[in-house]
Amino acid sequence: MQRQRSTKIVATLGPASSTPETIAQLCGAGADVFRLNFSHGEHADHLARLRMIREVEGELGTPIGVIADLQGPKIRVGEIAGGGAELAAGGDFRLDLTDLPGSAERAPLPHPEVFAALEDGMEILVDDGRIRLSVAAAGADFADCRVVTGGQLTNRKGVNLPQAVLPLGPMTAKDQEDLRFAMEAGVDWLALSFVQRPEDVAEARRLVAGRAAVMAKIEKPAALGRIDEIVEQADAIMVARGDLGVELPVEEVPALQKHLVRTARRAGKPVVVATQMLESMVNSPMPTRAEVSDVATAVYDGADAVMLSAETASGEHPVAAVEVMDRVADRVEHDPGYRAIMDAEHADPEATPADAITAAARQVAETLSATAIVTYTTSGSTALRAARERPAVPTLVLTPSLITARRLAVAWGLYCVHSADASGFTDMVDRACRVAAERGLAAPGDRLVITAGVPFGTPGATNSLRIAWVPPSAG
Ligand code: PEP
Repeated sequence: MQRQRSTKIVATLGPASSTPETIAQLCGAGADVFRLNFSHGEHADHLARLRMIREVEGELGTPIGVIADLQGPKIRVGEIAGGGAELAAGGDFRLDLTDLPGSAERAPLPHPEVFAALEDGMEILVDDGRIRLSVAAAGADFADCRVVTGGQLTNRKGVNLPQAVLPLGPMTAKDQEDLRFAMEAGVDWLALSFVQRPEDVAEARRLVAGRAAVMAKIEKPAALGRIDEIVEQADAIMVARGDLGVELPVEEVPALQKHLVRTARRAGKPVVVATQMLESMVNSPMPTRAEVSDVATAVYDGADAVMLSAETASGEHPVAAVEVMDRVADRVEHDPGYRAIMDAEHADPEATPADAITAAARQVAETLSATAIVTYTTSGSTALRAARERPAVPTLVLTPSLITARRLAVAWGLYCVHSADASGFTDMVDRACRVAAERGLAAPGDRLVITAGVPFGTPGATNSLRIAWVPPSAG
């Protein structure tokens, strides 16, 4: 299954996409990675989806990445009497710890840590910012607020506190249970919601204990102040524009998206741009022009992956949504202006053997018009440095680790094949030529640029670059 594009597609699975047939169709349409959203569904649902993905992966012979996305410490109001109440703009409204059903005057907010963090004048956003409150006075178990923007408040609506750094751990009891389950099930990535500090990522890493890679979802203003440290701690980041656009004025999101993509690219960590990319396709077979332009922007910026949420999880046209994303990414990457825009953000190599070799591989491939770069990797770290170079030709990653191959599925331009490590230079060249030809990345007579670590099989030892011709026998 050979793609014509380097930007990857993440598709969220849900009730609209939970049969082996649909998952196979989503892969055929262009999905490279699947996301299991632990904000919805039972463990049994996620396990069934994971098993279906692995089945489809086996049939296709292409490693597929799976992300378990934890709900995180999402704050919600409690129940409202009769299911809902209208809050009038300009009126008074109290949030408190009492568990009596709410009304037009008050509502339960069963989160003592929120009251501890509130200060007068802070903004409280309810239901994705549809209702806005301003704190007039706060105590240990209440907050008296003025209603800035009114509206219908219904049961268990989400609450955002953009100005507060909450003394919340990165994971609730549910998250910890979900994490344990996801690790046992064998997902490749753990996505951590509402990251505020690098310590949050470190804590998740400790619990994950190497069983998955950790993706920090950037959706809190507090995370932005320490973004370099968070990117350093995490294996990847996600620009989670849904909550980010509630916690911050929406007009801030585009500039932040560019900043976050640039920061992750510089660090050589994958970055996923997420949420509402083709939102209208939840109900419509056609995207809006603005949505197409939004996907294109992320591709021009050099994001590693673009993500679909409700479009594939619960929408009416999951496969069509992936097809549209695939076509848009493919078209943008074939725009003659694309390279110049991508290269404007190109980060210099760092002073390491892996960077020196991968930067040289890119340059040699371009100078000699090679058709592909082939990278031998065990841990995946050299492959990520190769992706950081954003070379103009595809990078075929050969790895003896299926875990590495699956994790790298989210990274820009990497085509991963699970293959034994080379046993020597001759085998390194033969194997690279054979797999590149089998996968349609090269034909006899084409040139390949191969990187590897010698002695072979030593992780983190990339130190060799070889130019090879694909022989007629590889055809
Ligand atoms: C987001 O907020 O954009 C996001 C991806 O997270 P979730 O879908 O879990 O709200």
